Amino acid sequence: MGIVAAADADSAVRLRAFAFLEEQTRLHGDGLPWSVLSRGFEYEGRRVPLVGPQGIFTPAVLRLPLTITTAPVVVGKERPYDDHVGADGLLEYRYRGTDARHRDNTGLREAMQRKIPLVYLHGVVKGWYVAAWPVFVVADDAARLTFTVAVGQQPAPLSGEQSLADLELETDGERRYATRATLVRLHQQGFRIRVLEAYRQRCAICRLRHRELLEAAHILPDGHPRGGAVVPNGIALCTLHHAAFDRNVLGVRPDLTVEVRLDVLHEVDGPMLEHGLQGFHGAAITVPRAEHLRPDRDFLAERYELFRNAS
Ligand SMILES: [Zn+2]
Repeated sequence: MGIVAAADADSAVRLRAFAFLEEQTRLHGDGLPWSVLSRGFEYEGRRVPLVGPQGIFTPAVLRLPLTITTAPVVVGKERPYDDHVGADGLLEYRYRGTDARHRDNTGLREAMQRKIPLVYLHGVVKGWYVAAWPVFVVADDAARLTFTVAVGQQPAPLSGEQSLADLELETDGERRYATRATLVRLHQQGFRIRVLEAYRQRCAICRLRHRELLEAAHILPDGHPRGGAVVPNGIALCTLHHAAFDRNVLGVRPDLTVEVRLDVLHEVDGPMLEHGLQGFHGAAITVPRAEHLRPDRDFLAERYELFRNAS
């Protein structure tokens, strides 16, 4: 294979990977299961997985890495590699091991020099990942055994022929902005995954178990000073009950009892109103068994006040 053909194949595989991730993210509602990533997609009859046993992963069809992954935090265990956001607002990604010349590290270095886009996979809980693409390695610090990674721009679907190198943002300001926006998005996607995991993929009110129809409701709203994206500020709800909770059609008392707003409770309509909303008045929500994952009572009390005022 000539240099041009190899470069074309490299770009084609990367574009297929981006399309695959977009499709799978839509299908699974933000998060990606490990099984889907490790199965990957087909390219010219060959399977292209997106993850392997190590953080820096090069599938057999490519010469340079396709993905960089951080493992989920296991409670009571340290991350295998401590990845985090650096002082400049960009991602820091640790070398594999301490040998700067290890194949995985030289691969990322070459991807940096040739402006080759990669996929960043962030482990949220065991078995679930959120993805960002395209990302570029923009700096290499051998003394700290660390690469700096910045988010690039999405390829425009209809622009036809394009060089993937052009997806790298040019100025530090643009890179910081795109990286920050992406990290915020990944954090929100992670919130949904962590809350659904804590509630065992069920609506806390009706126990519906269709992951595609489940969402993570904030008890204290997103902009609230204490309304963080943490599990004790979340409740797993189906789309109907999430909307009803957000719009104060129903509330949850600090003792975990559901209250339907009085006017709605006395309305006469069809079976959906009767079974979907009125029927849960006075019922208890189902919360996680682990104490530290249950809704914070103070958050519930504050939110319940808002519900009472809206009634
Ligand atoms: Zn529900």
